[in-house]
Amino acid sequence: MINKQHITERFIKYVMIDTESDPNNPAFPSTEKQWDLARLLEKELKAIGMQEVDLDENCYLMATLPSNLDYEVPTIGFVSHIDTSPDFTGANVKPRIVEDYQGNDIILNEEKRIILSPDDFDDLLQYKGQTLITTDGTTLLGADDKAGITEIVSAMEFLINNPSIKHGRIRICFTPDEEVGKGAHLFDVDKFGAEWAYTMDGSQIGELEYENFNAASAKVTINGKIVHPGYAKGKMINSMLIASEFINALPQDEVPEKTSDYEGFFHLHDIKGDVEQTVLEYIIRDHNFDLFEKRKYLMQKVAFDFNERLGKDLIHVEIKNQYFNMKEKIEPVLHIVDIAEEVMKDKGIKPLIKPIRGGTDGSQLSFKGLPCPNIFAGGHNFHGRFEYVPVESMVKATEVIVGIAQKVAEKYA
Ligand SMILES: [Zn+2]
Repeated sequence: MINKQHITERFIKYVMIDTESDPNNPAFPSTEKQWDLARLLEKELKAIGMQEVDLDENCYLMATLPSNLDYEVPTIGFVSHIDTSPDFTGANVKPRIVEDYQGNDIILNEEKRIILSPDDFDDLLQYKGQTLITTDGTTLLGADDKAGITEIVSAMEFLINNPSIKHGRIRICFTPDEEVGKGAHLFDVDKFGAEWAYTMDGSQIGELEYENFNAASAKVTINGKIVHPGYAKGKMINSMLIASEFINALPQDEVPEKTSDYEGFFHLHDIKGDVEQTVLEYIIRDHNFDLFEKRKYLMQKVAFDFNERLGKDLIHVEIKNQYFNMKEKIEPVLHIVDIAEEVMKDKGIKPLIKPIRGGTDGSQLSFKGLPCPNIFAGGHNFHGRFEYVPVESMVKATEVIVGIAQKVAEKYA
């Protein structure tokens, strides 16, 4: 059995180490403090008996659990990330443990009146009777993704201590800078040498994901002309007013706050402007590749039509692809999802298979040649003060990792 107390202690040890990443630093890793946890994990992996423990110069930590079979099975991998989101502070995390949760409000911070309530987060109610780990209301928790790290380390330790459980070669990797979109960038897929892998980076118990958005960014630059307002008639071009027309020319209902499931969107997330020049920053998202391409085309078309109508080249649109839907890479090897689903069912967990409205490291890894669906790590309300994780979900995720290792050994026997 996976020990609940042991998991709790390990998780708390990891979240006490601040590993916030920095979107504005191009260095690798983006913050020096990510090394603190990486080095601790390097020691710990060696101590539990993992082989080929290697922390490289970019802060990627890989290790191997050798096969204990006398026949060949595919090498599989498990991946999670060391860093926490720069959206909210991860310094001085003071985890609080709520035992035998009863579905009530949890006062995170008496002084600041910060309350974690099922009125706001009804997911809490599915964890009655369980042990929750919360914040003290002043930081994020870091269950994203230290729950994933806890589960992978604990599963490896469990397999090492229970050699009667048969498994093939298993590779694990902890990456830096996932939260700033770079977790997969310097991931050496050849060195990792797994046929496929799973990121342990999902949210609630049962989540199993292999579809994510296709993603692009768009920078729309509108050039105006400044003239003294008193003498501007027929001369001034106010770029901000053209920008406002441009914004309204895009589909008004295809925005994040009005879409869900498989519906894509245009999301305007930044405007900077004066009369002379306005710059709009968008992200474009769609699960369907054709619709994704159509969205990019539409934006160019709107700009083109404006320029035609105004008789001047005023609007310039620069679109950059960011990542793609991993579905295309996973569907040909869908058995890797089936294995995870079967294991969840064996463990009495209801699989929740749904499209991610975002991306994961796994999508980039899938396109680098390592098919990589995403499995729940157990936490909720990521990137903020209301983040929490039920210990029982971490135990279940650990069991799922062990179960996948076993299942692969059985399937290829
Ligand atoms: Zn994450």
